[in-house]
Amino acid sequence: MLQVGKPAQRTDSPSTINHQLSTINQQLSNFSNIFIRGVIREMTINLQQAMDIGKYLVTQRLLGRKRFPLVLMLEPLFRCNLACTGCGKIQHPTDILKQNLTPEQCFKAVEECGAPVVSIPGGEPLLHPQIGEIVKGLIERKKYIYLCTNGLLLEKSLDKFQPSPYLTFTVHLDGLREWHDQCVDRKGVFDTAVKAIKAAKAKGFRVATNTTIFEGVDPKQTQEFFDFLGTLNIDGMTISPGYSYEWAPDQEHFLGREQTRTLFREILAPFKAGEKKWDFNHNPLFLDFLTGEKDYECTPWGSPSYSVLGWQKPCYLLNEGYYSTFKELLEKTDWSEYGHKSGNPKCADCMVHCGYEPTAALDAMQPKNMARSLGSVLGMS
Ligand code: SF4
Ligand code: SF4
Repeated sequence: MLQVGKPAQRTDSPSTINHQLSTINQQLSNFSNIFIRGVIREMTINLQQAMDIGKYLVTQRLLGRKRFPLVLMLEPLFRCNLACTGCGKIQHPTDILKQNLTPEQCFKAVEECGAPVVSIPGGEPLLHPQIGEIVKGLIERKKYIYLCTNGLLLEKSLDKFQPSPYLTFTVHLDGLREWHDQCVDRKGVFDTAVKAIKAAKAKGFRVATNTTIFEGVDPKQTQEFFDFLGTLNIDGMTISPGYSYEWAPDQEHFLGREQTRTLFREILAPFKAGEKKWDFNHNPLFLDFLTGEKDYECTPWGSPSYSVLGWQKPCYLLNEGYYSTFKELLEKTDWSEYGHKSGNPKCADCMVHCGYEPTAALDAMQPKNMARSLGSVLGMS
């Protein structure tokens, strides 16, 4: 019995204590086995994906292809259950917002394009009535799928999917609770999304996050936000500066090029200095580009975009017409009109990942950059 005011006395015999110590040791050993196996499994998935993409890039080069896709941006619908003020996708007329790509249209686009990675943005893909069928078909085709979601429907949609090394849910989170809810213009979205992330992880799914950095963001809070994401056991995070869709209602909070570099330098300073081990799903060369340590030209054909309207010219962000085939998009677009050096004012401030990450991926294939890129895949930088 515990006596108030006195320390509790142990009455266990030596053999009981030995038994308890051995149980604790066993539990620790199980925990570390599970943990190490988890880490190794994660490294294996990342390594397998990096190897598959590397093999694809080398093959394209050997085939002498000048332009080839790396990530297909597959938009099976434009409608959404949120109305963020910086979003250019939900501004389409109602008759277009009502449309869905069929699974067969999605598979045809994926096969036509041939990119090893398929990103499914939107709109909100989980509103698509056949999203489970679409994802299943893409996994069967061994595509690495990043299904982007605002998280509102994620938890209740999990039964439509099976965990797979090929499938990652990418949950849109722009910052901690107050900032994120302000960005998406609705209270409670942050909490719902975080709860869904935990539920998806508990069921064995791969989950990453996607953060857009807008003008006015507080670098310190963003760093705290990345620390917070590190507690969720997620499978990496992506970041990108906001792009000024010309038809987005809020035009005041997009970043100019120099602003982007300054802000990212500030936000990423502890990471670059090795003080923080944030797990970014980016090639480190792309992060160098964001901080201004590298200058790249855009590779718009690296992330082509297919939607209910067809193949969008020239990239995921600009909307200058549509082609009915991927071949037409590649061959009929005058690519010299796009990218920073082209002088096109629409490209002047753009530094987003769909334009510049393919450039960084190609640069990573240079022998001088390979060790660093591989190190980042294995979580060593
Ligand atoms: S959640 Fe995404 S698709 Fe939906 S309105 Fe916001 S930015 Fe647009
Ligand atoms: S710079 Fe940006 S807007 Fe211009 S083509 Fe490239 S991705 Fe598109």
